[in-house]
Parts: sequence; structure tokens; C-alpha cells
Amino acid sequence: MKHRWGPKTTFEHKTERQCERCGMIKVSRSEHEGGRDRYWTEFYAAGGFDRIEGEGTPACEPAEQAA
Ligand SMILES: [Zn+2]
Repeated sequence: MKHRWGPKTTFEHKTERQCERCGMIKVSRSEHEGGRDRYWTEFYAAGGFDRIEGEGTPACEPAEQAA
């Protein structure tokens, strides 16, 4: 399942978007280093504290809704 990314929040060196389904946070970072710009993306579990390791975009796995 693909994430449904919400509105972008822009900071000085990064932007954040949160998935409206599973709460995962996608962080796009940029840094000026050694005369050139670097860009990379990180993913954090809902809450924003636990970085998700691995290649590519983690799957969208919404938490079970309480019935
Ligand atoms: Zn998601």
C-alpha cells in the first residue's frame, strides 16, 4: 500500500511530511557540504523518534482501527 503523504512542513534544512494513514514521517534533508549540496530522505515511525532503517520506502501499514 502506498503512503498518503499529508501537507509538507518546511524547516531550514529539511521538509517533513506525515502519512495520513499510518503516521509514518518522511523527512527530506538537504545539506551543503564540501561545496555541493547533498539530499537524502529518512523515514521515521509514527511519533518521529524511531528511524526506520533500510533501502527505499517502507510499506504503509496502518495501525488497526479499534472497532
Ligand atoms: Zn503510510
